[in-house]
Amino acid sequence: MALLATLAARAIDNPVQYVNPLVGTFSKHSLSTGNTYPAIALPWGMNFWTPQTGKMGDGWAYTYDADKIRGFKQTHQPSPWINDYGQFSILPQVGAEPVFDQDKRASWFSHKAEVVRPYYYKVYLADYDVTTEITPTSRAAMFRFTFPESKQSYILVDAFDRGSYVKVLPAERKIVGYTTRNSGGVTKDFRNYFVLQFDRPFTYTATVDEGNIKANVSEVTSKHAGGIIGFSTKRGERVCVQVASSFISPEQAELNLKELGNRTFDQLAEDGQKEWNTVLSRIDVDDSSDVDRLRTFYSCLYRSVLFPRSLFEIDAQGKPIHYSPYNGKVLPGYLFGDTGFWDTFRALFPLVNLVYPEMSQKMQEGWANAYKESGFLPEWSSPGHRDCMVGNNSASVVADAYLKGIRGYDIETLWEAVIHGANAQLDRSASGRRCWQEYNTLGYVPYDKIKESAARTLEYAFDDWSIYKLGQALGKPEKEIAVYAQRALNYKNLFDPQHNLMRGKLENGEWVPDFNPFKWGDAFTEGNSLHYTWSVFHDVQGLINLMGGNDTFNHMLDTVFVLPPVFDESYYGSVIHEIREMQIMNMGNYAHGNQPIQHMIYLYNYSGQPWKSQYWLRETMNRMYNANFDGYCGDEDNGQTSAWFVFTAMGFYPVCPGSGEYVLGAPYFRKLTLHLPAGKDVVISAPQNSDANCYVQRLAIDGSEWDRNYVRHADLLRGMKMDYSMASSPNTQRGTTPEAAPYSFTSEVPKSILKSATKKRKK
Ligand code: CA
Repeated sequence: MALLATLAARAIDNPVQYVNPLVGTFSKHSLSTGNTYPAIALPWGMNFWTPQTGKMGDGWAYTYDADKIRGFKQTHQPSPWINDYGQFSILPQVGAEPVFDQDKRASWFSHKAEVVRPYYYKVYLADYDVTTEITPTSRAAMFRFTFPESKQSYILVDAFDRGSYVKVLPAERKIVGYTTRNSGGVTKDFRNYFVLQFDRPFTYTATVDEGNIKANVSEVTSKHAGGIIGFSTKRGERVCVQVASSFISPEQAELNLKELGNRTFDQLAEDGQKEWNTVLSRIDVDDSSDVDRLRTFYSCLYRSVLFPRSLFEIDAQGKPIHYSPYNGKVLPGYLFGDTGFWDTFRALFPLVNLVYPEMSQKMQEGWANAYKESGFLPEWSSPGHRDCMVGNNSASVVADAYLKGIRGYDIETLWEAVIHGANAQLDRSASGRRCWQEYNTLGYVPYDKIKESAARTLEYAFDDWSIYKLGQALGKPEKEIAVYAQRALNYKNLFDPQHNLMRGKLENGEWVPDFNPFKWGDAFTEGNSLHYTWSVFHDVQGLINLMGGNDTFNHMLDTVFVLPPVFDESYYGSVIHEIREMQIMNMGNYAHGNQPIQHMIYLYNYSGQPWKSQYWLRETMNRMYNANFDGYCGDEDNGQTSAWFVFTAMGFYPVCPGSGEYVLGAPYFRKLTLHLPAGKDVVISAPQNSDANCYVQRLAIDGSEWDRNYVRHADLLRGMKMDYSMASSPNTQRGTTPEAAPYSFTSEVPKSILKSATKKRKK
């Protein structure tokens, strides 16, 4: 019924037509415009497919400026920095002899002879005169190759190096095998088992053992295995190959192949298109005044529903099961991975909780399983625990889902998990908390103990607030959770009133000497003090108070844009790409290309100047995003930077996940409807909207004047009409009262805790 309602009210019939999967692919080590690859996949699919232009093992798997394609890779890569696992590739070929070498076999191609849709990919491989088409399901895919006239047409499978296996089965018209290639985060026996089912008999078979092609040898276990089959083709003859894989077993791979059913290639592509439209049309933009903006919006929404990846498979009884990268066992239930919570706690998971709560429920069960199987929640999973970034933001991911009303999973296990993770660290990984003992004793992570200590402290304090709020919602006794309320104020310990900025502190209580607010890294993570000072998501009013009031706070916010993009890269020894991405954007020290500052613009809503948020959000949407190959202003990062745009275009953003509030900006479109799955609609209208009219003159919610600078999650869920009057000059009266400000912990923190925290600091 909800689906029918959605279809009936839909303004855009085919939103997937606006998605460009190539956005962000024009990237390199030194400068990222997204560091993405075209993920040919279904939403939250287990396997993605991408044309492979980079060498085997190169994280830059597909780059827009490349000339040649080496194969079509099944990939599970979340980011080039984390790299891939379980990957193998397929390539059609024509020639007197098959060629396996990854450089020699690569074929010229053109973007002008390429069609890229989320559910469909097509390219002309010029050196072979072969057209390749791909259409995916979650765990399987169909390839369709259109060959020229040739007695020697081939299809190659490259199972990659680091240990692989291939067996050619001519009687069954199959190739089976596995790849073990990974980048960590798996158990020793990790394998991705694959099966390829061809639609015709073979006239040539070979296997490849470390580059040596061995005709008529049907099986190979090698450091680097491959398989080749051949046949003759007429000009324009189409050859279809069904492919599937499994992290569990060869038998499960065969089961996963059944996802394709007996559908033809065209039916699969049509079904894929429908599935994408069902997911994308939850947010329905009714504004055709600028098609480029539709393309940017839906390309961002596409990137927001790929990760976290589904790592579960469906058994013969129709039940979810999974290979555990944590303990190597095959276990019942859901599992997800390939996300870094340091990035995605901010906007990506809140977007899932609001728009796709049915997926959130499965994901939360998946995190509970990860804890049961490893003793920790991941902080960066790919597919298991990885040692990357800082913080303990799994607490926020768990708390936000529960506090937003997601139910139907084992929250008590997750409660145990967040408490454990706040007071322990998993060996050689970012999971749990590094230096939790020092943090719990001193109230901050000391700089002389570990680098990036201020970033860790600020995130732990927010994570502690998340734990406190979750504990309250679960009815945990105050004596158990009071300590987290107290630690939630630990951000105050790093505030240096002399500079009005956050600063690293030594174990002896002294500031780290030679403070430089432009210094990236050091006490901070991939940002500087100007970027990280705002990481008090849960208590912006507390930060305003530390700065001495709204005037100073607003001045400090303004400063970020006013200052030139000066930087000190000495901690890294070279200009990391995130620094360069800030420097070149002509927006001062505002570094939207990386996550720490992505909520900052919204903070004017707490300090009586909401129009400045409206102005800078519009500038950021217009200048930092587009729907082209260079469309992002830094790493996209598994949906986070995209989810920022999706929220911001709707006109609100979860500055503090877990607070139950979204802070207002201003809508990007003249009309947008959010179709919530429970059948309720949030209709956002702004008929005078334009770049000139970027300011909110007036907002009415369900017909009544709304002077607050936030909307509540619970109110959105009931359905809502938000009617904006937009104007070319700011309304400096609206949203300026203290009551208009969004949630801050200071307003509700127990007095006893405030007192004891103040005393502690004075000691
Ligand atoms: Ca980043």
